[in-house]
Amino acid sequence: MRHRNPSKRINDFKEVALGLTEKQALKEAELCLQCKNPRCVDGCPVEIDIPRFISFVKEKDYLGGLRTIRQYNNLPSICGRVCPQENQCQGKCVKGKRARPVSIGDLERFVADYEILAGEMQTPKVKAPNGHKVAVIGSGPAGLTVAADLARLGYDTTVFEALHEPGGVLIYGIPEFRLPKKIIRREIDYVKSLGVKIRVNWVIGRTQTVNELFREGFKAVFIGVGAGSPRYLGIPGENLNNVYFASEFLTRVNLMNAHRFPEYDTPVKKARRVAVIGAGNVAMDSARTALRLGAEKVYIVYRRTGKEMPSRHEEIENAKEEGIQFHFLSDPREIIGDSKGWARTIRCEKMKLGEPDASGRKKPVPTGKEFSIRADQVIVAVGQRSNPLLVRSVKKLKLWGDGYIVADKNGRTNLKRIFAGGDITTGAATVISAMGVGKRAARAIDSFILGHK
Ligand SMILES: Cc1cc2nc3c(=O)[nH]c(=O)nc-3n(C[C@H](O)[C@H](O)[C@H](O)COP(=O)(O)OP(=O)(O)OC[C@H]3O[C@@H](n4cnc5c(N)ncnc54)[C@H](O)[C@@H]3O)c2cc1C
Ligand code: SF4
Repeated sequence: MRHRNPSKRINDFKEVALGLTEKQALKEAELCLQCKNPRCVDGCPVEIDIPRFISFVKEKDYLGGLRTIRQYNNLPSICGRVCPQENQCQGKCVKGKRARPVSIGDLERFVADYEILAGEMQTPKVKAPNGHKVAVIGSGPAGLTVAADLARLGYDTTVFEALHEPGGVLIYGIPEFRLPKKIIRREIDYVKSLGVKIRVNWVIGRTQTVNELFREGFKAVFIGVGAGSPRYLGIPGENLNNVYFASEFLTRVNLMNAHRFPEYDTPVKKARRVAVIGAGNVAMDSARTALRLGAEKVYIVYRRTGKEMPSRHEEIENAKEEGIQFHFLSDPREIIGDSKGWARTIRCEKMKLGEPDASGRKKPVPTGKEFSIRADQVIVAVGQRSNPLLVRSVKKLKLWGDGYIVADKNGRTNLKRIFAGGDITTGAATVISAMGVGKRAARAIDSFILGHK
């Protein structure tokens, strides 16, 4: 796929990846073997009929390809941009055994963008209203998927969202240069076109409780509130000035347009030397955002090596091309500030790799050797936790770990009218896994309300 030139793209927030040309898409589609037993579908959490959509591309029926995808996936132009395909559909594609897999994600993006360029929006048939109301809490990929699928089945579905704009992490976390807002807003318009109502600035647990929703006549509630609270490093100096948690830093820029302060109300501190702790998608997004805010040097500080980095491969490549530097096997021990309380240096310990841990990745082991990294801004991106506000307000809801909801693979919780899915049940995961459980939960809610198996 074509990408914008790194030296130009670091100066703005415009999208980096430009998508396939029609010629490239047709060439890519030709690579697909149309397997009778397609392994790629096994790798897709929403089980898109991948060979069928690619066969439409081969015939230049791009809208037919998109219709096929939409039977399984309500947010194709988003998934085509942010799914970690290398670990999912493409990771299983048989072509990958000998050469390279078919670029399924790029083709998905191509057909979804084709519809946008054609200025059309195809909406599928929606069943006649069945008179049942369902409430969905949270408008991230899990909530939007449940809401869209239930609306298609004839349910009167309302999504309640705490922020002023729907989309969850898609809108407040993933930066514009990876996922333009106009793409997300268009997919949300599609969900609304199915009849879904969205109420923003509506914090369930504060503005209204789950019990009040039941009293208003909602037959079932789906909780998809994500895992938006920061996880701390727990080291001295974390409270110094100019130490941000990634979720706050990214929300300021992505949702509140802080990079355009004072045109917009919310500011963000800019810095010359920025260190980002962590190496997942959130860390890469923070590092590349800091660069676009004008930082001269941006470092990723990670306690394992490049091989273990959990971010999407494409984003690591993009970050390297843009000049982000990597300090591997480096574990922060303290953030040291100046006399006025501003972050200046990170004291780190050098690590080495030991035996694999529970995640299967080799565990970082301290070596006793220390070194320092100069940084006047530190962004902590070492994971998220559940936000306790809603879960604590629902009595007897069974939780695990750090306040995550216990739910089965169909989103059923221990309370029969309450379903849940996405990051609030699994811990921080992926867009498509949140959508996968959203689809199964919609079927489970339908079975529960209509009483069929
Ligand atoms: C910066 C960043 C980059 C990422 N990059 C990728 C990527 O490239 N690819 C990928 O697959 N995954 C990525 N992820 C992970 C992915 O975005 C999440 O796994 C996914 O968004 C989870 O979806 P969700 O619907 O469970 O929750 P979320 O997307 O978190 O949405 C939850 C929504 O619920 C709302 N909410 C919370 N509490 C309440 C309440 N009490 N009342 C009403 N509303 C409430 C929140 O405001 C939010 O809008 C990234 C995550 C982050 C943070
Ligand atoms: S596994 Fe690969 S080659 Fe086979 S159908 Fe899927 S995309 Fe095509």
